[in-house]
Amino acid sequence: MSNSTTKVQGCYINGEWTVPDPLNLIEVKNPANGSVIAVVPRGNQEDVNRAVNAAKEAFRSKEWRALEPQQRGRLLFKAAEIIRENKEELAKIETLNVGKPLKQSEVDVEVAARYFDFYAGIADKIMGETIPVQEGIINYTVREPIGIVGHVIPWNYPLQIGARSIAVSLATGNAAVLKPAEDTPLSILKLVELLEPLGFPKGILNVVTGYGHEAGAALSGHPDINHITFTGSVETGKRVMESAAKNIVPVTLELGGKSPNIVFDDCNVENTLDWVLRSIVQNSGQTCSAGSRLVIQETIKKSFVKQLAKAMEKLTIGAGIDHPDLGPVLSKKQFEHIERFLTLAKEDGIPVATGGNWVTVDGCEEGYFLQPTILDDVPPEHLLAQEEIFGPVLTVSTFRTKEEAVQIANGTPYGLVAGVWTEDVGRAHRVANQLECGQVFINHYGAGGGVAQPFGGHKKSGFGREKGLEAIQNYTQLKNVALRYSF
Ligand code: NAP
Ligand code: MG
Repeated sequence: MSNSTTKVQGCYINGEWTVPDPLNLIEVKNPANGSVIAVVPRGNQEDVNRAVNAAKEAFRSKEWRALEPQQRGRLLFKAAEIIRENKEELAKIETLNVGKPLKQSEVDVEVAARYFDFYAGIADKIMGETIPVQEGIINYTVREPIGIVGHVIPWNYPLQIGARSIAVSLATGNAAVLKPAEDTPLSILKLVELLEPLGFPKGILNVVTGYGHEAGAALSGHPDINHITFTGSVETGKRVMESAAKNIVPVTLELGGKSPNIVFDDCNVENTLDWVLRSIVQNSGQTCSAGSRLVIQETIKKSFVKQLAKAMEKLTIGAGIDHPDLGPVLSKKQFEHIERFLTLAKEDGIPVATGGNWVTVDGCEEGYFLQPTILDDVPPEHLLAQEEIFGPVLTVSTFRTKEEAVQIANGTPYGLVAGVWTEDVGRAHRVANQLECGQVFINHYGAGGGVAQPFGGHKKSGFGREKGLEAIQNYTQLKNVALRYSF
C-alpha cells in the first residue's frame, strides 16, 4: 500500500517535470514484497502530444542544429560519466523496481554507461559518400537524423534497453520520446533527472509514463513520429507495427526469444555448465535472450542434467537487494504466466529434474519466488519448448546428429540468440552458419554487455538491429545530392 512517504514522480516533457494529477496515477511496486515504492502519472494522448510537439520543436531548434556533432558527442560522454558516478543509486532503484539481484543491476548500469560512451564516439563520424556519376556533376550522400523517435521499452531491463536506443538516437541528432513499462519506470526517470544538468535543449529527450494501451499506443500511433523503436513481446510488436503502417514510418522490433544452447558431447563440460546455468537464471529467466532451451547430445544428457540440477540447487533465492542468486519474478501477472506452463508440464507428465516450486522468502511474503527449474525430456515441438516461459525454467531436449541439433534449434517461431558448445571449431562454424538467429555465441553466452555487437532477431524475434554501428541505420536517413558545376 502507498503511504505519505511514497515518492510521487512526474513525466519529463519539454525539459520540465509535470505535476501529476492525483486522480490519474499508477502505483509502482517492489516485486520482492509488493510494497508501493512510487507513483507515476498515467500518461494519456494529451501528454504524448505535448511530448511529441516538444520533441518536434527541439529537433528543429537552432540550438540543437547549432550543436556540432563533436559537441553532441561530448555531452553523451558526460552522460556516461554521470551514470557511472551514480551507479550505486541507479542500481538500487533498478533492483527495488525490477527485483533482480543488485550485482546484476550494477552490471546494467555499467552497460548503460557503455552505450553512451560507444555512441558518443560516433556522433562526429557519421559520413556520406561521393558517388561517381557523369562529368560535371558532383554527387554525394548525406546521412541525416530521422527526426522524432518514439522509444517503447519493456520492464525487464529498463536502464540497459532505454540507454541502448536513447544514446544512439541522440548521437545521430534526433529528438526522443520514451515510454517505459508501467511496472518499471523508475530508473529511466532517475536517468533523465541525472542528465538534466548537461543542458540538452529542452524537448530533446522526453519521458511519458503510463499504460501500454494508452500512452504506448498514443506514442506509437502518433502521426508526427518518424521512427519507432519497440522492444517487448510479439503481440504488442504486431500492434506497434500496425500503427507504424498507418503512418508509413519505419520500426525496429526487438521481440522475444526461445534461445537454445546446443551442447555437443565434446564440449568443455565445466565451462558449458557454468554458462548454461547463468543464461537461464539471470534476472530469474526474465531475459529476451535467456538460454531457455538446452538442446543436448543424447550421449551426455543424463550426466550433464544431473550436474546442472545440483548446481541449481545450491543457488540462493531472495529479495534482489539482499544479494541472492535469484530474485522474484516481476508480478502476479508473471507468476500466473509461468504457473500456467508449470501446470501444463504436470498435466503432460514432463519430468522435473529439479525445482518447480514457488518458495516463501521471510519478510517477502507478497513476492513470487520460483526455484530454478529443469523440465527434462521435453519434445521439441511441445509448447514448453516453443514459447517464452519468462521465468527460471529450462527445457531439455536431446539430439543424435548435428543435423537434428540444427533442426531443433531452428524449430521455434523465434530466432534471437543461440549458444554452440563444442571443442570442434569446424563444427561450431558449420552449425553457426545454419542457425536462424541474430547472434550466435560459441563456447560462451550473453547478449547483454556486447554494446558493439549488432543485436536483433530473425522470424518472430523481430527485425532491424540495435547496438553496434549497425543501429545507426535505424536513426538516420540518406539524402542524395547531385550538384552540376559545369554547363
Ligand atoms: P510488452 O508487454 O510487449 O510491453 C513492452 C512495452 O510496450 C511496454 O512499455 C508496454 O507498456 C508497451 N505496450 C503495451 N501495449 C502497447 C500498445 N498497444 N502499444 C504500444 N505500446 C504498448 O512486453 P514486456 O512484458 O514489457 O516485456 C517482455 C517481452 O519483451 C518478452 O517477450 C521479451 O523477450 C521481450 N524483450 C525483448 C528484448 C530484445 O531486445 N529483443 C529485450 C527485452 C525484452 P506497459 O508495460 O505499460 O503495458
Ligand atoms: Mg507490460
